[in-house]
Amino acid sequence: MSNKIRSYPGTEITSEEARAGRYLLTKYAAELKYSWSSGEAISRFLGGLRDGELWGRKCKECGRTMVPPRMYCEICFRETDEWVRLQDTGRVGTYSVSYVNADASRRKQEEPILVAVVEIDGASPMMGILHLLGEVLPDKVAVGMKVKAVWKPKDERQGAITDIRYFRPYRGGPQRT
Ligand SMILES: [Zn+2]
Repeated sequence: MSNKIRSYPGTEITSEEARAGRYLLTKYAAELKYSWSSGEAISRFLGGLRDGELWGRKCKECGRTMVPPRMYCEICFRETDEWVRLQDTGRVGTYSVSYVNADASRRKQEEPILVAVVEIDGASPMMGILHLLGEVLPDKVAVGMKVKAVWKPKDERQGAITDIRYFRPYRGGPQRT
């Protein structure tokens, strides 16, 4: 085997030459369309969001109720067993005061967003939904704070996590449905 770099016929176009306009350039915005399957568990979860419901998946072996749901328990190495309707209340597991939007653009210093992992009532702790907090000032947020989902109106829901606008502070225990 030779370590020599193979050379190919033709002339290399360098970035500098391209920038200098030495070659014909065509610019266009690609319109890329793609779709993918969200799978059995997340499909049901997203359908639940459209209906204003949160659904988790329970593994009877370890007793965990997972949200977002999974069809397979990575701890027990087995399929999960059943669907569990969850409350739309929970607790702040962790949070961040963010001055950056989801598209990485900068926010005004006086208008941060509050990003939190919400541990949903009825699901196992240490797992939860990454979402926004609202109706609360940054210095009033605390880990363990009770929160409740604020849903979009039914006709605006699309089967997406954004069907929940945000979670707001909530006084009171888990609701019974
Ligand atoms: Zn398990």
